[in-house]
Order: sequence, then structure tokens, then C-alpha cells
Amino acid sequence: MEYTLNNELNGIEVVFAEKPDLVYRTALKSLGFRWSRRKRLWYAKQSDFRLDSVKTLEDKFFNQKTEETKLFNADERADTMKFTIEELEEALQDGRTGFCIACGCEAYGVEPDATKYKCEDCGENKVYGAEEILIMGLAG
Ligand SMILES: [Zn+2]
Repeated sequence: MEYTLNNELNGIEVVFAEKPDLVYRTALKSLGFRWSRRKRLWYAKQSDFRLDSVKTLEDKFFNQKTEETKLFNADERADTMKFTIEELEEALQDGRTGFCIACGCEAYGVEPDATKYKCEDCGENKVYGAEEILIMGLAG
């Protein structure tokens, strides 16, 4: 995954060497990126929020590739909540809403890249930011 700034068009462009996993495509879509079939890249207008998010995505992409930072093991993933794209999208836009993957409740004051915050409802350290949840593949 690689992003470049197209200053002529005031755009951010993202390319992948291979077709990326669904989570990345979903994350890009929810950030307002569109796929250009002709240019074979993802593009969107530049904004600080998008740029930050793309940088975070890029970090995750490489971390995931090297398998160094697995956020989850398979057992844990099995009994976690799923969240809808709409609610994640909303949370990404306000930038302060996270979700508990144990009980499914919303948590406020949670940055998009937060991990393992304590849930005030169920007490588990399973509150994650919206961006993390997208990347973990819990959208759908
Ligand atoms: Zn909870």
C-alpha cells in the first residue's frame, strides 16, 4: 500500500500492489475514497482527517503483513460483536466514538485508533476506536 498526494487535483491517491483485503477496501470507502478503474487507484480529495487515516491504514497494512502485531487471536475473534458500516462511518466522522467488542456498547471520547480501553458497561478492556474495528474486519 502506498499513497501519494496529487496536488494538481488536490487529491490523495492510494495504490496497492495486489488487490487489498476487504477491510482495507471498506475502510477506504468509508473515508470517502473511490476506486478508479482506469487509473487503478483509490482517490479522494485531500483533508487532514483523510491523510491521517490513510497514514494509519498504511501502518496497519504493513504491520499486518509482517504479522508482528496481531490485534486478535482466532478464539477472541469468534465471539466478538460485529458493527455496521454506517455506525462505524459515523464514529469515524466524529472521531470520538469507539465501541466495546465484548458487549457492543458505544463509548465516547475514544480516538479512532484506540485499543483495549476499559468498557464502562461491562468492565472488559475491549473498547476500540472505529478505525481499529474496521481494520480488524469487524464491520459487516
Ligand atoms: Zn463492554
